[in-house]
Amino acid sequence: MRWVGNEAAPELEVEVAERANGKPVCSGCGHHRPGYDRLAKRRFEFVPLWGIKVFLVYAPRRVECPSCGIRVEQMPWAMGKRPLTRAYGWFLASWARRLSWKETAEVFRTSWESVFRSVEMAVEWGRAHQDLSGVQAIGIDEIAWKKGHKYLTLVYQIDAHCKRLLWIGKERKTKTLLR
Ligand SMILES: [Zn+2]
Repeated sequence: MRWVGNEAAPELEVEVAERANGKPVCSGCGHHRPGYDRLAKRRFEFVPLWGIKVFLVYAPRRVECPSCGIRVEQMPWAMGKRPLTRAYGWFLASWARRLSWKETAEVFRTSWESVFRSVEMAVEWGRAHQDLSGVQAIGIDEIAWKKGHKYLTLVYQIDAHCKRLLWIGKERKTKTLLR
């Protein structure tokens, strides 16, 4: 563990490593595959401690997969291609239920896009694990981002007993809603 950043904005970096016998898993097919090489170290943002940003530092391995070719290993603790850990994604997504996404980004000094991707992850997880049969009323909202050049369509369940975000779609077109 080491301190980086400066006095005004200190950051903690924590080096992480795979288990001694941990074989990498191909991100394409999910099978254990022989290692190929290692990419440069990357930082993955973790839940902040007392307002101090915390990063896990890890050099992802690549595997040589007979079915997928050379692929980066699966990192189930990271959020896809974002430099965020899923733990931090869940943290941001839970705050984004109380504050606006913009406020959440400001309070935790992260980007609007990181908040959006976190909410998206939480909503996708929820959709894969929830039963939609009880939904009777839905509400639709749109938000603008990138200075109003891009839009997202949000679909909420608005039943009296349950209000929750069900879906996030890119754009705000008829096609978006039909999906
Ligand atoms: Zn594979």
